[in-house]
Amino acid sequence: MWKTEYSDDGSVSCRTASLSVTTDTPSVDAFTLKTGKDFTLSTLPVRLGELSESMALKAKRRPHVSEAGDEILIEQENAIPFGSEPVIRRKIRLSEHLLNVTMDIEMRASNEMKDISAGGVVISGTVETVRLTGMPPKGEFTPVFSPEKDFAAAADGTVFYEEAFPPFGLVIASEQSVFELIVGDDFWRWTNAERIGGTSRFTVVKKDGALQFAWQIFTLKPDTEMPAGRNWRLTWAASWHDRASSGKTEKRVFKSVFSLDSADWQEASRAVLSARKTAKRKKSGKTENPVCLCSSGALNTLKKWLRTNLAAAEEGDVFAVTDILPHYCVSAGHMERAKLHSLPHWDLASLLEFKRWANRQLAPRGARLELIAAEGSEFKGFMTLQ
Ligand SMILES: [Zn+2]
Repeated sequence: MWKTEYSDDGSVSCRTASLSVTTDTPSVDAFTLKTGKDFTLSTLPVRLGELSESMALKAKRRPHVSEAGDEILIEQENAIPFGSEPVIRRKIRLSEHLLNVTMDIEMRASNEMKDISAGGVVISGTVETVRLTGMPPKGEFTPVFSPEKDFAAAADGTVFYEEAFPPFGLVIASEQSVFELIVGDDFWRWTNAERIGGTSRFTVVKKDGALQFAWQIFTLKPDTEMPAGRNWRLTWAASWHDRASSGKTEKRVFKSVFSLDSADWQEASRAVLSARKTAKRKKSGKTENPVCLCSSGALNTLKKWLRTNLAAAEEGDVFAVTDILPHYCVSAGHMERAKLHSLPHWDLASLLEFKRWANRQLAPRGARLELIAAEGSEFKGFMTLQ
C-alpha cells in the first residue's frame, strides 16, 4: 500500500506526482502539480471584473489525509476583501494518478456580472503534442478525439481551440509521458452564460511556450440586463501516466465483471440527446440509447453489484466494470433538476467517482476495482481507464 505524504514545506506527494500548496504559511497562491520530469500544471487566478483572486487575503490551508492514507484533500479559501467581497473556494483531492478539483466562486447578488473568468490552467514542460476530446458527431453519444496537433512546432500564440464551450478533455503528450485533463460531469455549468444573458469562451493557446487553457465563463451581452451575482461551481480532474502504459490490453482474470453493454438499464438511466426525444434508433440495430452514468438509477445498479459481491472479495482480487465508453447526455433529471429543460453533461467524472467509492469498500479486503474501456476504443488509457 502506498501513501500520500505531507511535508512541512507545504507540498504533498503521492507516488506519481507532487502537489505544491502552501499549507502552514498563509498564501494566496492556488496550486501547482508536478508529474515526473515532464509536466507542471499551475492554476490561473479567478477574475471577477476588476477583482482578481490574486488580491485575496492570505490564508492557511488544512490538508486531510484519508483513513487509508492513499488520498489527500486540501481545502483552500481565497477571500477578496474588496467590492462585494467574493470568495473562491477549492477542494483539491490528490491520489496516485488522479487530481480532482471542485471550485466554488461565491458571489453576492450585488457582485457585478459583466466579465467573469474562472481562471484556467497552464501546463508547462516538454509538451510535444495535444489532442482535444470534443462533441460527438450528430446523433451519437461518445465524445471524439481530434487528430494529434504538433504543439512543439507551433508558433507562440497558436490557438488550438476556441469555442463557447470547453473541450471535454485534453491529452497532452511528451516523448515519455501523457497528461490528461477533463471537465467534470457539470458541463452545463461551464456553459451556463447563454442561459443568463451572456457569452462564454474557452481557449487552448500556446503562450510563452506553455499550454494555456483559459476559462472565460461569462461576458455580458451588449444591451442586456445584468443578472444578479450568483455562485458558480466548476469541477475538473487531471490524470497522468507513462506513454508506454497507455492502452495496455493484458489479459487478466477478474473476480467479478459488470459489463455496461449487457446490463438491462431502465429507460430513465439512458442518455438522451434531446430533451424531447427519448429513444433513437442506432445503426447497430439497437433501439435503446446507451447508459448515462450520471443517472442515479445506473449508479445504484453498479453499487448494488459491488455490494452483492463484496463479501466474496479476497486479497488481490480485481473487480472490473467493462465495455466503458463515456457518453454525452442532456437529461436534466440525471442532474437532479428534472424541472429544467436540458442540462448537457457527460459521465466520465461520475464513473471515476464510482471507482473511488468502490475502492473504499474493497480496500479493507485487499481487493480493488478497475475500469476497462470498450475494446478498440480511443478511451483506453485515458483518465485511468484501462
Ligand atoms: Zn445523463
